[in-house]
Amino acid sequence: MITKKEYNKRVFVKYFFYSLGIILGVFFLLWLFRVINADVFFIGMENKTFDLRQKAMAAHKVANDNIVIVTVDNASYEYLVGKYGEWPMPRKVYADIADYIEQQKPAVIAFDLMFVNSLKSSNQDDLQLAKRFAKYDNLYTSINFDNLNSQIRKPENLPEKLSVNLKNDSKINFKNSLLEYTNCRMILKEIIDATSNIGHINLIREEDGIARRINPIVSYQGNFYPHLALKVGIDYLKRYENIDEKNLYVNKKMDLIVGNRKIPLDILGGAILNWYGASGEYNKNSFKYIPLWQVEKLTYGETLDDDSRLEKNYFKDKIVYIGVSATSMYDIKSTPVERNMPGVEMHATFINNLIDNNFIWHIPLLIDLLITLLLSLLVGFIVLRFESTVMASLTCVMCSIFYVILSAWVMNNFNIWVSLVFPLTFMLLTFICVYLVKYFRKSRDFEHTYKLATTDGLTELYNHRYFQEQMIQNIETSKRYNSVFSLILIDIDFFKKFNDKFGHQSGDAVLKQVAQIIKKNVRSTDIVCRYGGEEMAVILSNTKKEEAAITAQKLCDSVAGKIFDLVNNQKEHVTISLGVAAYPEDGETPQEIIECSDKGLYQAKESGRNQVGIFSRKQV
Ligand code: GH3
Ligand code: MG
Ligand code: MG
Repeated sequence: MITKKEYNKRVFVKYFFYSLGIILGVFFLLWLFRVINADVFFIGMENKTFDLRQKAMAAHKVANDNIVIVTVDNASYEYLVGKYGEWPMPRKVYADIADYIEQQKPAVIAFDLMFVNSLKSSNQDDLQLAKRFAKYDNLYTSINFDNLNSQIRKPENLPEKLSVNLKNDSKINFKNSLLEYTNCRMILKEIIDATSNIGHINLIREEDGIARRINPIVSYQGNFYPHLALKVGIDYLKRYENIDEKNLYVNKKMDLIVGNRKIPLDILGGAILNWYGASGEYNKNSFKYIPLWQVEKLTYGETLDDDSRLEKNYFKDKIVYIGVSATSMYDIKSTPVERNMPGVEMHATFINNLIDNNFIWHIPLLIDLLITLLLSLLVGFIVLRFESTVMASLTCVMCSIFYVILSAWVMNNFNIWVSLVFPLTFMLLTFICVYLVKYFRKSRDFEHTYKLATTDGLTELYNHRYFQEQMIQNIETSKRYNSVFSLILIDIDFFKKFNDKFGHQSGDAVLKQVAQIIKKNVRSTDIVCRYGGEEMAVILSNTKKEEAAITAQKLCDSVAGKIFDLVNNQKEHVTISLGVAAYPEDGETPQEIIECSDKGLYQAKESGRNQVGIFSRKQV
């Protein structure tokens, strides 16, 4: 018997080692993940699930119809090159188009086009365009940073007015290798002189080539420069609230604060876009696209056919983004919702997200780990709780499906990206591990119960029931294979007297030791049982009676030759008497064989004990 205290201690030790095993297991897995670069794999897979969720959601999202994209599409390109004879067309055309749209009082006009130095048209035309930038304070254009070798192009200094002051309380390093540029592709100096409405249009490619993020701020020559879409968005919002566009702030939680809105950033300074479905060129719920050729015709007083007519003052109060979608001009991006999306639509999406305050927030790793832990515990609980494997598997699958649906719902309603791949992988691993543990535990329990049911507690020999089963089993086997087996019955001599003299405890000690001696002196295939009281039996399969008699004699001698340890350090000799019988010569049923060996045993007792008695049926 063990005390309650001892029992509690054992339980504690057991659970301590269980917990230690689990912790070590988790660390091992994390280490393994690092070694095999599983994080890259997980991030890649996770991005794919993000894309799928976005695609599913985007189908019923509607973009802000105050954002209009005027684009140089394939038709416009053909028309404009036809009309002006070359690309780029004279910059005076852009100036005139700006004038035309400005007449309608738009909120903002932004050129996602670079009026670069290297593609100068006539100086006169360039000046015309620059003048418009001086004239309209809601006219924006872009600049692009790169890391071109300074031997090819000398890095230019940009005027202070284009940069912003950034107060950064977060862990994001805005001068990390991805966000820090060393060179810049210059646009017309006259435009830079005329306006500060210039933003960068750099895009950072993700490993799988899909564009999911825009970096609102990059750094160049130690200063910070805002993205064109951020500048345009702020300009638009400034009509409704006060925003200090020159001084930007990133808080501890990595949110870029823009007035009443937050742009959650990732650790590399990227804002994850929330998409509005397939490109607006083909999707009526997304941004409205207007081909530039139509606006150009209207600018120069031509009229449009009924089917492409733009209503009067169409651009009033709108954000007009002018970009390129012609396939020959390569400003095409792959996004989660569209294989080929004009880059300008990414800008529109950014501005729309800013207005709706619905950028995607990818929850921090720690919360992901916590969710993973909880889900794994749930799976563990289910597997342990459910008896049926089918039910347990089904419930776990249902839980996984529910979690996937929940993750899509959370993204749809709260713009939160919870990880799917990591938790689901761990749920599966937990399922397998807990199932294995359960299986091993069950088989161990079964073994334990089986042992309890078949062995004798004192001597640890097989019990009487098992003995009877084995007798039947051996008879059947011998019958089928036409073989023989033998039985030895053993009884301790004068055991009653022994008990009386030395006490029951010493008697028990002797019983145990006799059992050990018998076990040690027979083959491992022989079955040693406690027949009852101080009587024991050995079933010797494939053994003839004569061989069994030799074994019996060996047992008799071994016991007689041993000095037994009793309680209280006493020592004493004990002898046994044995009877031998065999199948089939002494009987065809267990009863007949037992009876025969019992007769042999009786014979041994009668002849003075401490010997082997062999009775033969033929004697009757
Ligand atoms: P014999 O030489 O004729 O076999 O004499 P015996 O005294 O051994 O025979 P008997 O069958 O009269 O007595 C058997 C005794 O064995 C009775 C009982 O006290 C003792 N015994 C039976 N089972 C146990 C046991 O589990 N522990 C102990 N200590 N004694 C037992
Ligand atoms: Mg007896
Ligand atoms: Mg006896």
